[in-house]
Amino acid sequence: MICAKQVFRCFKRVERAGDALTGAAGPVFVLLAVVLLSVGAFCFFEIVLPTLRWPLLSAPLCVLVAANMFAHYYYVCTVPPGFVSDAPPPRGTGLLWARKRRAARNRALTGVRWSEELNVTKASISKCKRCGEVRPERAHHCRICGRCVLKYDHHCPYQHYRPGINQCVGLHNERHFVLFLLYLSLSSLCFLVLGWQHVWSALGWYDDTWNHYSPEIAFLMEYILAVVMFFAVTVMGGYHLWSIANAETTVESQDHEHYRKIAKSRGDVFVNSYDLGKLKNLELFFNVGKDGYPLYTLFLPLRIEPYTDGRSWARRQGMERHPGVHIGEELTDEDED
Ligand SMILES: [Zn+2]
Ligand SMILES: [Zn+2]
Repeated sequence: MICAKQVFRCFKRVERAGDALTGAAGPVFVLLAVVLLSVGAFCFFEIVLPTLRWPLLSAPLCVLVAANMFAHYYYVCTVPPGFVSDAPPPRGTGLLWARKRRAARNRALTGVRWSEELNVTKASISKCKRCGEVRPERAHHCRICGRCVLKYDHHCPYQHYRPGINQCVGLHNERHFVLFLLYLSLSSLCFLVLGWQHVWSALGWYDDTWNHYSPEIAFLMEYILAVVMFFAVTVMGGYHLWSIANAETTVESQDHEHYRKIAKSRGDVFVNSYDLGKLKNLELFFNVGKDGYPLYTLFLPLRIEPYTDGRSWARRQGMERHPGVHIGEELTDEDED
């Protein structure tokens, strides 16, 4: 028993050292990701795009997909996730900020901006045992940032099979994170489907000469990268979309599994009170639909505000908390360590 505990503690220590290392080495990997994405885009636009049919249609579409991918990557790396102790970010007015629907533009700003038909309740409050911050529910402490983050999803360091962002994913950048994954997956798909004929040329299997600025080796490496990315990122993006459709963050999807077991053990049923149905959950996450932003904001590289300030949450009618889990049974950040 003691041995098992020691092994567990040792494992945690190694994990923490890994966190510190990825946190420190992060900026280098962000730079690497930007270089790889840029070389990939250059290869595609220089070699593949000129050979596509219907250039008047295909060229603007490809530019739009690439612009979305780069813009959302930039936003997810630079927009703060929403630290509990920071003042709420001011509402943006620049060109890159999407315009709200006319009907929703002049609504009084309450804690929650999209509140017409929703049952919105104030978040319960707890105190973080690590940084002492008083924080609303759905906020969690990030060990790498050392601060509490509103609607904390995960800290995203660099990982070898996909570009990391080297910061937390939370309330204010989660939409950009998911859109980045989706546009990266779409870009990789375009590269691997539309570029495969050029692979044979790059390998020298045809007699034609390689008349491009991009070297053959760069094209081949980016092609292999696109294949790997497509599978890895599609799985990841799909997982996140599924969690969003179930109104759960990455942390919550694990916690709720635990609550379901507790509730079941006493013949009770756990209900996620944030879950308003798959479509409504997706609408709220992307903040589109009635009273939110227009749907086209999903296809343009724009910034928008989340539907809430992170201190109130939309819930199922008549619910103030999740039925099935009693007060005191909720997992804390310490339990998750
Ligand atoms: Zn904290
Ligand atoms: Zn973090």
